[in-house]
Amino acid sequence: MKLYKSLSGVETKRDDNKSTTRGGEQALLEVKNLGISFREYKSGLLESKLQVIRGLDITVNQGEVHAILGASGSGKSLLANAIMGLLPENAEVTGTINFRGVTLDSESQTMLRGKEIALVPQSVNSLDPLMKIGKQVRASIKEKNKKYIQRNIFRKFRLNSKVENYYPFQLSGGMARRVLASTAMVSGAQLIIADELTPGMDEHSLQETMNFIRDLANEGRGILFITHDINIAKKIADKVAIFYAGTCVEVASTEDFSGSGKSLRHPYTKALWNALPQNGFTPLAGSQPFIAELEKGCLFEPRCPYATSVCSEEEPESRTMTGGMVKCYHA
Ligand code: SF4
Repeated sequence: MKLYKSLSGVETKRDDNKSTTRGGEQALLEVKNLGISFREYKSGLLESKLQVIRGLDITVNQGEVHAILGASGSGKSLLANAIMGLLPENAEVTGTINFRGVTLDSESQTMLRGKEIALVPQSVNSLDPLMKIGKQVRASIKEKNKKYIQRNIFRKFRLNSKVENYYPFQLSGGMARRVLASTAMVSGAQLIIADELTPGMDEHSLQETMNFIRDLANEGRGILFITHDINIAKKIADKVAIFYAGTCVEVASTEDFSGSGKSLRHPYTKALWNALPQNGFTPLAGSQPFIAELEKGCLFEPRCPYATSVCSEEEPESRTMTGGMVKCYHA
């Protein structure tokens, strides 16, 4: 481990053994063994910890759209907030988050936020209620011709030119989401994290947005695209990470989501794929466990048709398999 000047000018640690992927190129974002827990107080001053994310590994390369797919409560938005340095004060983070080979800390996260790393948040409440929309978007633009750039991005997101003079309360949910997306896209950030960007968008806006995201990736940016919609993930992404109960159980290429799903590695991913109407509509019994009530062993074991006795003893480790990653003893 050596000390380096980080992108924010702060001295920080860089692990040269772990920061490259894909043909020796440096990964844009590399999340290694991430754990997040929250301190809570029970019965007066008795402190306890609630572990909500465990053993999470994600790598995003330049020019790549990396989807994160999972149900509500699987940890998708927590990952986004951990990368941005936006977790609440009672959060404890373990593991490392590297951006361009530099391990992030709270100081560098503050410096990079909105400049090199931008978030399109899930909540539309992050817009300033007292500032006109156009002004809010222009505040993220570094170039001189701000108004031109803002109007251009509004056209791409099918936002009427009048919208720049609106206040947030005058926007529908779908419009507000497109405004938030515009803000992130014009920021010039190299890594864009889009957290549930597409709900509420009509078909045309959805297609335009997906095209635009693809264009940004083709320019060399990295996109972390968080969604619960497998069809959208398949259309837009190069690879897909599947989250379940606070961990990543599989990373698959988009091509693996085809036919009967036989290229998919984890039983949960296969079940999600086969639950789609076009793939047989086979329901998956049970529900994702509540994070405070996790048993030892594989978290999917109570719902898994392939479980054996080893599955309930210890949680499987991640392993690479057919060009992807899986956490399962019998994949
Ligand atoms: S480790 Fe066992 S229980 Fe878990 S997904 Fe694999 S087969 Fe199923």
